[in-house]
Amino acid sequence: MNNILFNKTKVIATVGPACNSKKKLKELILAGVDVFRLNFSHGTHEDHAKVIKFIRELNTELSTQISILQDLQGPKIRLRDVEDGCVVNSGDKLIITTKDVLGNAKIAGTVYENLAKDVSEGELILIDDGKIELKVESVKGEDVHTIVVHGGELKSKKGINLPNSNVSAPSLTPKDIEDLAFGIENDVDWIALSFVRDPLDIVDLKMKIEAANKDIRVIAKIEKPEAVKKIDSIIDATDAIMVARGDLGVEMDMEDVPMIQKQIIQKCNAAAKPVIVATQMLESMIENARPTRAEANDVANSVIDGADTVMLSAETAAGKFPLLAVQSMNKIIRSVETNYENIYYKYNTPNPESPDFYPTSVVQSSVRLSADTNAHVIAGMTWSGFTAWKLSAHRPKANIFIFTGNKKLLTMINLIWGVRGYYFDSNDTTDEAIAKVETILKQEGHLKTGDAYIAMASMPIKKKYRTNMLKINVAE
Ligand code: PGA
Ligand code: MN
Repeated sequence: MNNILFNKTKVIATVGPACNSKKKLKELILAGVDVFRLNFSHGTHEDHAKVIKFIRELNTELSTQISILQDLQGPKIRLRDVEDGCVVNSGDKLIITTKDVLGNAKIAGTVYENLAKDVSEGELILIDDGKIELKVESVKGEDVHTIVVHGGELKSKKGINLPNSNVSAPSLTPKDIEDLAFGIENDVDWIALSFVRDPLDIVDLKMKIEAANKDIRVIAKIEKPEAVKKIDSIIDATDAIMVARGDLGVEMDMEDVPMIQKQIIQKCNAAAKPVIVATQMLESMIENARPTRAEANDVANSVIDGADTVMLSAETAAGKFPLLAVQSMNKIIRSVETNYENIYYKYNTPNPESPDFYPTSVVQSSVRLSADTNAHVIAGMTWSGFTAWKLSAHRPKANIFIFTGNKKLLTMINLIWGVRGYYFDSNDTTDEAIAKVETILKQEGHLKTGDAYIAMASMPIKKKYRTNMLKINVAE
């Protein structure tokens, strides 16, 4: 690993035409991207396979552990193609049909075949992030007759949200099933599912991954009111959460999104589940070289709220300044992390009833010890990743280094707040392993002679128990 950047809060960049060459991906890694998101709402499997290959080559060349996140489209509803320049105005009548038509200002098609079954009179249909608002007047066969409440230009393939309706589409559409097979085959690190409505959506996805005998972790994207209602059981079921503010702010009242973001982050922090804040974080940088002050505030406030990870979408995928967007985001993160103490040291009292009570207590003690002794490094050895997850959740100011022989874990944990992974396959005794860890940390410039550091391991090391030991050392 190298010392590219040492921010604790991680950055996801969405890959798209503006950054999908190996050269551009490299620039973004050097600017401090930790995770690349492959958005399966766009692009072919061939495009995605190429990007995966580039990222893995760069991980080898740069000694990085950049994580790959596959984002499944889920039951997203879209328009079919429409003619250029179709404008609808408030008061106009517009039919949305499930028939395969080229749309115009009177009738437009959707690929979602249950539309006419799912909506009823009086419900809203929102198009293009809610820019166009329609109200259902009647449903006749495959045609949904609507009146335009707010008009605008109809554009091909734009998203449709049905904030008042029960969408009957399955959580994994036939396209998702195909994309999932691709993700599993290519061994991505994380799979995000869009439009999660129920914890069972996550359980189902996890079962499919398990059936393929893979260790790929799952992110529930919270962008439906149903998911907000069931947030506790979804957090329980999932490995991580994304506050997907783009669709969430269309499906629900946008003014409620800031508080929902804070509440979800709090719950995830308490449950030691990584949480990502996404969408429009530096939106104006799609066109401009500098973010607005409000956007800089949004990134800073998300870090202060306790996000593990902040995400760039179109800013890096399709914008004019992907590199500047990543650099700006990291500068904002750095400023908060160096100037604001309140983001550190979140202690959640371990639950004596939990089967993890002892390892969780050891982790917490190591964080307290690092604070008391001003040790700048906590080094954990783990096979399962448990130590990485738990250490991060306590938000130590010390840098967290995770040493593992589990190669799959190395890139996966790069999404988690504060955590950096090193490959380490040791058959030594605990003492010998700690000595090796110290040597590596010194070589990499994370420790110098005289620095105190805390090492955590499971003893005896060969048994791969959960963490049961912590030791304070002074580097020689
Ligand atoms: P998307 O998800 O970019 O895949 O739509 C994020 C969001 O809706 O905020
Ligand atoms: Mn979305």
